[in-house]
Parts: sequence; structure tokens; C-alpha cells
Amino acid sequence: MSFIPYRDLLAEMAPLADEIDQAVYSVLRRNRFILGPELESFEKEWSTYCGVRHAIGVGSGLSAIEILLKAYGIGPGDEVIVPAYTFIGTWLGVTSVGAIPVAVDVDKRTSNIDPGAAEAAVTNRTAAILLVHLFGCPAPVASLREVAARYGILLLEDACQAHGASVGKKRCGSLADGAAFSFYPTKNLGALGDAGAVTVDSDEIASKVRTLRNYGFGPGNRIIETGTNSRLDEIQAAVLRVKLRHLDANNEIRRKVAFSYLHALEGTDFTVPETPNDAEPVWHIFSIRHPDRDAVRTGLKRHGVETRVYYGEPPHESRIYAQIIKSRKLPITNELAETSLALPCHPAMCDRAPFIVRSLLAITGN
Ligand SMILES: *Cc1c(COP(=O)(O)O)cnc(C)c1O
Repeated sequence: MSFIPYRDLLAEMAPLADEIDQAVYSVLRRNRFILGPELESFEKEWSTYCGVRHAIGVGSGLSAIEILLKAYGIGPGDEVIVPAYTFIGTWLGVTSVGAIPVAVDVDKRTSNIDPGAAEAAVTNRTAAILLVHLFGCPAPVASLREVAARYGILLLEDACQAHGASVGKKRCGSLADGAAFSFYPTKNLGALGDAGAVTVDSDEIASKVRTLRNYGFGPGNRIIETGTNSRLDEIQAAVLRVKLRHLDANNEIRRKVAFSYLHALEGTDFTVPETPNDAEPVWHIFSIRHPDRDAVRTGLKRHGVETRVYYGEPPHESRIYAQIIKSRKLPITNELAETSLALPCHPAMCDRAPFIVRSLLAITGN
């Protein structure tokens, strides 16, 4: 029996191996490893791709969130509204600058933050809404922007799963007051280690982010902020430049896989994700729902298909947040945590989707 892994990074990398080898060797020969020409070029290319004035490379996605919040002066005493159904990193970015994550529930159809719930959570301490383009599907940015404008608060993007996704003609990362990207190896644009970026239009915030990622050094090599060490290194930047050239093609393959799932699972016991009309997702994660999720998962495993669960323990269920939000009701997040199942969906598996669908239908007797 053949085994279908959830991801296969080696197979995804194979067509790019020569280009990546060359890129890495050219950095080694140049003998410049931090804050050099590869990073400068990548920052230009990534900002152009996203359609923003500035992209600033940092050490990880979590670090991008922290530094973006810090650059906007968000810290102790501030509340930041976050979706309950997300990766722990979204919340930790808020917590680690000393601010309070205020969890709101999500829309059952898209799994994305619910703008009505976000508005209901605004208080006079709210500094920002940190939306997440969950699973690579753009969040309802237009409604969230209205909420943010109404209360005079910031709207920030956790775009760590949404490289290349768009709303209308605008890419994720350019849709609000600033965005955080992760280039963790499994993301749609992934490095060969940890890496991330902040994208932003404001010259002032961009300059603050540059200062904060590099100890706090400002012009004239003087310390002007309490910064940190969070820089995207030259080798990772060189790798990302190669992989960026293939991002659109790879997203297109993911789209084909996703469409074949969507088409084949229509009218079955499985609930498939809905996409808003003006949104173009990039299917970082293709997650379906079934009331008997664990049985389906075991059944697929017997057919040789590896799956994942996002997110079985949402942040509010973890012990570190138990105290803060015990009182808040998050029924949809809890339901999604119990019923969601992510199927393999990546650029190296185009022809395996029909087999996976047949297995799903066989398991449930559809
Ligand atoms: C991956 C991810 C992060 C964190 O990125 P790292 O590079 O692992 O620090 C944050 N938020 C979301 C939604 C993510 O998917």
C-alpha cells in the first residue's frame, strides 16, 4: 500500500534543488551573512510582490508579530482582539509585548474571525484587531476595516499562512495597517529554517521595525530603542528569493488540489470551507469537517493517508491562557477544534487527491 504523507518537503523542493544550491553557495562565497545584499533584495522583491512600500525581514513569524506591535507602541495595558481559532503564535505575539489577547469567536463557514464578534469585544483599552488569514483564506478585511475605523483602532494582519492570497486586486500583507509573515519551512513560502517579515506602508513604522529587529540601532549606529536580535539571515534570504519565483506556480497547484477536493466532496457528509466572493485563498491548509472526525482520521490512516488536526487545542484551552478568558464563550471555535481535519494539500501531490477522496467516501459509506 502506498503512503501519502501530509507534506513532503523533499519532493516539493526537488525541482528547485539546483537553484537553491547555487543561491546558498553564492552567499558562502560572498562571506557576508547578516544584513547584507540578499536580504536587501529579498525585502524589495517581497514588498513589490505584496504591493506595500516596505518589507522588513525578521527572525520568525512570532517575532514579526511582536516587533510590529511594539513598533506601533502596543504594550502593557493594551488589549488586542484576536480570533480564538488560530495558531498559538498569534496570541503569544500579543502576550509577549505585555498586551492582553482578547479572544473572539469565528465564522463557521470560513473559520475566520467574525467581524461582529470583534466589534462586540472593543473596549476603551482596545489598541488593535489582529486578524488572521486562517489556512490561507483572506479574513473579511472590509468589515474589519470599518470596525477599526469606527473605534479609531489599528487593524493588523497575521498573514503567516497567506503568502500570495488576495482580496480583489490586493494581496494579503497590504490590506491593513501592517502585517506579519512567517517563512517557517512548511509555509507556502518557506525558508530552510526560521524566518519572517513585517510588511507596512508607513515609512515611520518601517524604520522602527528596522531598528527594533537589530538591537535598537538607529541612524549613526546609536541605540534609540530597546530592541532585540531578530534578523533574517543572508542564506535564508537567498533561498527565499529562489522560492519566491515559484510561489505563484505552487499556489496554483494547491488551488487545483483544493478545487478537486471541493468538487468531489460536494453533497457528502463532509463540510468543506467556504470562500468569500472577492477572496482568492492560497490553501496553506485544506481543512474539512466531520462530526466523527477522529474515526475518519483513523480510517484514512488505514488507507495510508496522513492527516493533521488544526487546531485541536486552541489557545484558550491551553493552560497558559486558562485564567484570562475562562468566562468567554467560544462555541464555534470549540466545535471546529473537535471536527476539523486537514487533508494533504501541497505542490507535490497533484494526482493523489482523487485517491484521498475515494478513501474518505469509502470510510463514511457515502
Ligand atoms: C506559523 C504561524 C505563526 C508563527 O510563525 P513562526 O515563524 O513559526 O514563528 C504565527 N501565526 C500563524 C497563524 C502561523 O501559522
